[in-house]
Amino acid sequence: MIQLIRGFKDILPGEVELWQEVEKTAKSLFDDFGFKEIRIPIMERTELFARSIGEDTDIVEKEMYTFPDRKGDLITLRPEATASVCRSYIQHKLYAADPVRKFYTIGPMFRRERPQKGRYRQFYQINAEIFGVDSPLVDVELIFILNTLFSKLSVPDVTAHINSLGCPDCRPDFKTALSKFLTSVVDDLCSDCVRRKDRNPLRVLDCKVPSCREALKEAPSILDYLCTTCIQHFDTVKNALASLDVPFVVDKRLVRGLDYYTRTTFEMQTHALGAQNAVAGGGRYDGLIKSLGGPDIPATGFAIGLDRLTEIAGLDRSALFKTPDIFIAALGQKSRILAFEWLCALCLKGVETEMEFEDKSLKSQMKQADRVGAHHVLIVGDNEIKEGSVILRNMKTKDQVSIPIENAVENIKAKIS
Ligand code: AMP
Repeated sequence: MIQLIRGFKDILPGEVELWQEVEKTAKSLFDDFGFKEIRIPIMERTELFARSIGEDTDIVEKEMYTFPDRKGDLITLRPEATASVCRSYIQHKLYAADPVRKFYTIGPMFRRERPQKGRYRQFYQINAEIFGVDSPLVDVELIFILNTLFSKLSVPDVTAHINSLGCPDCRPDFKTALSKFLTSVVDDLCSDCVRRKDRNPLRVLDCKVPSCREALKEAPSILDYLCTTCIQHFDTVKNALASLDVPFVVDKRLVRGLDYYTRTTFEMQTHALGAQNAVAGGGRYDGLIKSLGGPDIPATGFAIGLDRLTEIAGLDRSALFKTPDIFIAALGQKSRILAFEWLCALCLKGVETEMEFEDKSLKSQMKQADRVGAHHVLIVGDNEIKEGSVILRNMKTKDQVSIPIENAVENIKAKIS
């Protein structure tokens, strides 16, 4: 038997209703905040991700699904959505009429990471981006939306972890100080961090290996190096979050894995997830649109991990799983044809209806109705047709009523609602 690929998964009925509910809640929130949906391709030229995410990041170095197409062009299954949304914004000059645009997109991403609980090779994200606004208040708008979504979905115990990564004016000084510090503790770093130290020193701050965390206790903090504008930006973020009652902590270690972030970065963390504690992450990336060949337009955004979010959303799965309103137990060929006509008419009226198409006994059909969780059974036999009425049985209360065949569909609908 052919099995699915390691790190990939099926989302089956029973589970998928929860995904639909989460997506529906997110979409309605985006609507209320004026975001428009954008759908972008699953594959892009490799260059787009290499240039935006950064050549020296884990994603580009070792996690992308990259292959030559039949003509030899290198293409990549998207590992994230922001680069594509920026590409689309630039390519279609969506900034021309008004640079301020708010987008969201939902779909699969691909990273060849080591699979474990909460980490897949095909996983799903809900992404939101706001283009064209410098103000720190839109960073706060994004965190506020995340916080609202998580509370609507009863996700327990979520805190926004926030940090500032500075800007091209102040970050270089911090990088120099950090590199100097890392050289002094190089013997205590893991092999990955020794490599990162020269190529992407900020990433060392994010390492989860205990010996690295210990070695970095005295590392310099980016927050001590911020320029006045970055300090003001970060202060506004903190003050606005506090006045909106959004719980947050300042986390000077938070750097995140992608190169393009500037100033505000954030992660929504919860203990409910175990080791993979981030359910969403994002931040400002003011230089990205320009670096991809577009105009100099600031931007900020987030990505929610849908796999993780559905795992911890406190919604009642069984209440989301719909079972048929009616099961028609038809006895005899003539009844089956009539039952099928009613089935089509009832489904069209929004009454979920099932029936048995084979010649089975009433007992076996009642059992089947029970198995599929039907709320009512409609018993249609040749005798009932002759007498001009059929029986509707409520499976929970066991009450039975007689329904006239004339206008049966209307009568049935009225009875069950
Ligand atoms: P990132 O694009 O790395 O900032 O990730 C944003 C969010 O996507 C994370 O907070 C996770 O919830 C989710 N995520 C990232 N990588 C994976 C993965 N391999 N499997 C499942 N979820 C992931």
